[in-house]
Amino acid sequence: MHFEGVPGHEFVGVALDGPLAGRRVVGEINAGCGECPACRGGDPRHCPTRTVLGILGRPGAFAEELSLPTGNLLPVPEGISDELAVFTEPLAAALAVLEAVPLTPSTRVGVAGDGRLGILVAHALASAGKEVVVFGRHPERQALLPRGCELVPGVLEADSPPRRPEWEVLVEATGSAAVLARALELVRPRGTLVLKTTVEEASTLPLAPLVVNEIRLVGSRCGRFAPALELLASDPPPLEKMIDHRFPLEEAPGALEVAGRQGCLKVLIEVSG
Ligand SMILES: [Zn+2]
Repeated sequence: MHFEGVPGHEFVGVALDGPLAGRRVVGEINAGCGECPACRGGDPRHCPTRTVLGILGRPGAFAEELSLPTGNLLPVPEGISDELAVFTEPLAAALAVLEAVPLTPSTRVGVAGDGRLGILVAHALASAGKEVVVFGRHPERQALLPRGCELVPGVLEADSPPRRPEWEVLVEATGSAAVLARALELVRPRGTLVLKTTVEEASTLPLAPLVVNEIRLVGSRCGRFAPALELLASDPPPLEKMIDHRFPLEEAPGALEVAGRQGCLKVLIEVSG
């Protein structure tokens, strides 16, 4: 998005004004124009002139204050800790997979990637009753996955032996365009590959397997916050376990450096006052 300015789009805070003044809130990050068909339909995620918190035309959450339209804010129920509430945005993005592809009780679902998004997608799918297989690189992250979910390492590497294409739905959440072709090999004929990874560089994918095997390719981005808050309130996954470090806002550059290190899952920036 070539964004310049204050980054940060995952937050929990206290509303300073508006109808929710004084209450703990989270905020959907897409702010629409309010007038286009998408906005009039109540969903600004694809408003063509939207701004996006900390990503597109709107200063983000690594700051003492931020601003969002009132309609974007949702109050955080009492029982949800700050440590869980900051996961509302990425959990909503994970739950958006359920919006992108219909799952029946018999649908076999896999997740490619055991990073923060892959783990969240596994929890989102588990909330829909799915026992998920996650293809990853870090066996120790099994502990972060939902019960009944299996972590299988060494499948997506460039030199991994070929596997049977047995997945009806495979959610790609590796954060790396390099594994797309390997992920595609796992999808069975007439299956669906859901892409969650956004990477800056262009990537290449052989298209013939899509045609020959009649595979659907579905992109999935932001999710609505209400279902994420509902899950955090009713059956919260232990997402706090993903928090590796906390830094005060004054040390935000150091926080970003640590967050970029290999193996780091989540870093919180705390704004005092
Ligand atoms: Zn609009």
